[in-house]
Amino acid sequence: MLIALQNFSAAQTSFDVNIGGGVWTAACEPFVVEDHLVWNPGAGATHHLGFGMKSVLNGHLTLGLGVRGHYMGQNRGYRTSLKCKYPDCDACDENDGRGVFINWSGQDSVGRSIGRDEATTDYAMISVPFKIGYQIGKFNPNIGVEYNYRMGIEKNVGELQSIGITTGLRFDLNDQFAFSTDFYGGVTKDMTHQGTVYSGQRGADDVEELETYDFKWRSYRIEFTVHYKFGGGSAK
Ligand SMILES: [Zn+2]
Repeated sequence: MLIALQNFSAAQTSFDVNIGGGVWTAACEPFVVEDHLVWNPGAGATHHLGFGMKSVLNGHLTLGLGVRGHYMGQNRGYRTSLKCKYPDCDACDENDGRGVFINWSGQDSVGRSIGRDEATTDYAMISVPFKIGYQIGKFNPNIGVEYNYRMGIEKNVGELQSIGITTGLRFDLNDQFAFSTDFYGGVTKDMTHQGTVYSGQRGADDVEELETYDFKWRSYRIEFTVHYKFGGGSAK
């Protein structure tokens, strides 16, 4: 047992510092209501610096654990209104102010956007990924769960916490360097807002209430990382 533990810690585990970058977005669900696009497609850059460990348990099965600090650029995907993007839309007419609008709960005027602060701040984030993988030569496809804790830098948007699925592919070049690419998809929400969709002329009496939705925003990232391994020994 002791020998097994020594083997586990000495020979099969590697530690690394890592650095990387990628892109992220926040997407709204539902992203289409009443045939109109709600999601404001946008992407931001993200950079990270972290610490990780990877253990090869029985020659093939791997466990990975890490902690990373991210600097994430602003992302207009959070700013949401219902603007008609369809040239031949029957419901909307720019000239007489007719259209399809959202009234967000807590706001008194129809047609305003929401998520302005969330969309105009950079973020600092800590992520903690935990992954299970399978080693095939130098390649390590893996999947796991990740916890994110994020705060706005220029704007106070509270604490955005989420848990998501992370999946990736790592390539261990040699005893010193490894490269990996990872995808994170939020399972829990960054934020929610209730909005009621109206159709008609803005400010007029004949607006028709269509439906109320609970809109949810989740975040997604794709990242590329370079790992510099130290200590631990020669785990792949
Ligand atoms: Zn329209």
